[in-house]
Amino acid sequence: MKYMINNWKLISGLFLLLLISSFPASALEKAVPKNIILLIGDGMGIAQITAGKIVKKHLNLEEFKQLGLLMTHSGNALVTDSAASGTAMATGYKTDNKAISVSHDDEPLKTVIEYAQEVNKVTGLVVTSSITHATPAVFAAHVKSRKNQTLIAEQLSKSGVDVLLGGGWGYFVPNTTKGSFRNDHKNLLVELAEHTIVIQTEKEFNELGDVDSVVGLFARKALPGADQRSPGLSEMTQKAIQILSKNQKGFFLMVEGSQIDWAGHDNDADGIIREMIDFDNAIGIALDFAKNNNETLVLVTADHETGGFAIHDGSVTKQQITETQFTQSDHTAEMVPVFAYGPGASDFTGIGDNTKIGKLLIHYLQIHPLK
Ligand SMILES: [Zn+2]
Repeated sequence: MKYMINNWKLISGLFLLLLISSFPASALEKAVPKNIILLIGDGMGIAQITAGKIVKKHLNLEEFKQLGLLMTHSGNALVTDSAASGTAMATGYKTDNKAISVSHDDEPLKTVIEYAQEVNKVTGLVVTSSITHATPAVFAAHVKSRKNQTLIAEQLSKSGVDVLLGGGWGYFVPNTTKGSFRNDHKNLLVELAEHTIVIQTEKEFNELGDVDSVVGLFARKALPGADQRSPGLSEMTQKAIQILSKNQKGFFLMVEGSQIDWAGHDNDADGIIREMIDFDNAIGIALDFAKNNNETLVLVTADHETGGFAIHDGSVTKQQITETQFTQSDHTAEMVPVFAYGPGASDFTGIGDNTKIGKLLIHYLQIHPLK
């Protein structure tokens, strides 16, 4: 089966090359994105989006015209965790829960960021969790267990990812530093500072000049909630796009609304709404960029739903939700939506599997003419 897929890729790649030679550049740009922005709402099911829509009234998500649904099960469970579903989106392969872009047999699975780097695109990860958390980790690390965040920090430091913004400096500083999560003397921030700019405060973020890369870790672990963090997800997304879009060969950026999931685990409906609206604001930043640039594919999806969240009462006119319920405090197996805008968007319609994200993104990176 694997060989069949490879053959199919080869044949479709050759066919596309033929098309490339006979089509004008503008037609080609419609089919293959130069830039990719993947926004992942962790734990964002349909009910979470509905809650955001009722309270915010209009979501940036409504600008998307191409929608699909994705199955999220992992290699060893019907109900996935963020590591396995993230791996599916980052590599195109199913793996077991807790695995960070390694197979069931612990073999590394090449990620969309590693493919992007091969074709000289610049890359970025922007999150509101620790940058070593499962969803960002799957794009640039290969570790058997998501719990090994100190090892993930080491791999992220060596990954060559141009923009890393989020929380988690505690995983990067030596055990002699107060607040460190490490058991050794490694100071990854000092190692990173040899080839990029390392910042840790809002002031440094606001004063950041015209840079080509940056590592910004603004909390020991996760960033605070949506109404308390600064820089916020939208500011970080804006900064990442500003830095990465300078590259002539294009970029790949993953942005995660990390804490929609945590509010789901806490069965906190108000928290879900706050984080959902905050995530939608960041989606607006990505869309604004894509609307002025016909070479950018924007994808918004989730890794899974969290909480079995349901809305039971409220009012659309009053923009109010008065009654909700949760089936439990963990993830569920329900399908998640995928919203697509820009070149390649129609590839994501219909019902599919979450591996489709990784497979298609890698496919684009392998056939892009700017290679
Ligand atoms: Zn979760």
